[in-house]
Amino acid sequence: ADSSGAPNSRTENSRELFERASRIVPGGVNSPVRAFRSVGGTPRFMVSGAGCRMTDADGNTYVDLVCSWGPLIVGHAHPHVIDAVGRAAAKGTSFGTPTPGEVALAEELTARTGVDKIRLVNSGTEATMSALRLARAATGRTKIVKFAGCYHGHVDPLLASAGSGVLTLALPDSPGVVGTDETIVLPYNDVDAVKRAFAENPGQIACVITEAAAGNMGVVAPRDGFNRELAAIAHADGALVILDEVMTGFRVSKNGWSGYSGDTADLYTYGKVMGGGLPAAAFGGRDELMSRMAPEGPVYQAGTLSGNPLACAAGLATLELCTDELYAKLDATSVTLQGLATKALAEAGVPHRVSTAGNMFSVFFTDADVPNLEAAQTQDAAAYRAFFHAMLDRGVYLPPSAYEAWFVSGALDDDALGLIADALPHAARAAAKVAK
Ligand code: PLP
Repeated sequence: ADSSGAPNSRTENSRELFERASRIVPGGVNSPVRAFRSVGGTPRFMVSGAGCRMTDADGNTYVDLVCSWGPLIVGHAHPHVIDAVGRAAAKGTSFGTPTPGEVALAEELTARTGVDKIRLVNSGTEATMSALRLARAATGRTKIVKFAGCYHGHVDPLLASAGSGVLTLALPDSPGVVGTDETIVLPYNDVDAVKRAFAENPGQIACVITEAAAGNMGVVAPRDGFNRELAAIAHADGALVILDEVMTGFRVSKNGWSGYSGDTADLYTYGKVMGGGLPAAAFGGRDELMSRMAPEGPVYQAGTLSGNPLACAAGLATLELCTDELYAKLDATSVTLQGLATKALAEAGVPHRVSTAGNMFSVFFTDADVPNLEAAQTQDAAAYRAFFHAMLDRGVYLPPSAYEAWFVSGALDDDALGLIADALPHAARAAAKVAK
């Protein structure tokens, strides 16, 4: 991989690993989008990362614009994070008792977000699952509202018209899932649909759950006032609002979308950045709700590894680096990349829309506005496929699906931006060749 455009496409070792994996792991991967099904080709097996770059099993290096799907906001193997994890590991990997590290992380999270109380879990899926249980318990209601294209992890009742891998694989739902009959799925950014849902189900809806800003159908920001209006409608009926900040939390600002936009909710879920690349997530809210959780209250939720010392150390060390200066850099880098992508695609005559939510963005291969999933699905998937592979061959790792956010890290340096700038016109021309 270099800026002269030399191919970066040796794949023998990744191919062999993928074949071995495919014999014993469904689809060869432990999370579906990693399999490259929507872009085709061999998934690259990564062996190391440093800063904004990662290296695969064939020795190809890539500038990383996925950042492990969000967590690596300071880049790979940041010395401060690695040092914290190493020191924690040397003292023991898990105790199954409370530890000082989880107190420190919880204090940092509550200080940043203003929520009264927080509970640590291992994944975003667990966070939304638990927040949903709490919302149902607190209201004594069972129905829930979610938005098409919003992904909240693979929680059964939330796996209806979800985004992310489900969208990429075009599974409207999944076999084996139960409980979606209590789920009302509405178009994103449609306040009237929210009003109608409450009018048709008075006193029955426990909560509305929404991504604080959608990032799993590609990035689609809430229209100005959308989150506030849906909260007002929900509250008027006695329902709660869960803002899912798993992707946006500590990424678009020091606390997340809530801090960035002023949108508030009854319960919040967090993940990704707060674990610094190790498994940690959380849900939180005001005392009156969170004190219903066991052992303080009757709502059960638990975890053998919850608040794991390594994960807490990685999360806290990462958040220590999440300063105003870092966010200023992320915002500027994001704007630079958006400009480079726009220029290259416009020059090649490829229909596109750059869609942003704070420093998160994605490029939709369509010339329609994208306020919701239906519009996102007007994309030209073949154009993205060609674009993706041309970038990959030139050493830029983009999300292997057109329905995902591009993530910047504070580690992106001028060399990396130069490499991306050089690669983009080639990729744009590759997309133009196949564009509808
Ligand atoms: N919520 C949102 C908004 C997400 O983006 C994700 C994952 O991408 C999740 C929840 C699920 O988190 P996890 O993959 O850690 O279970």
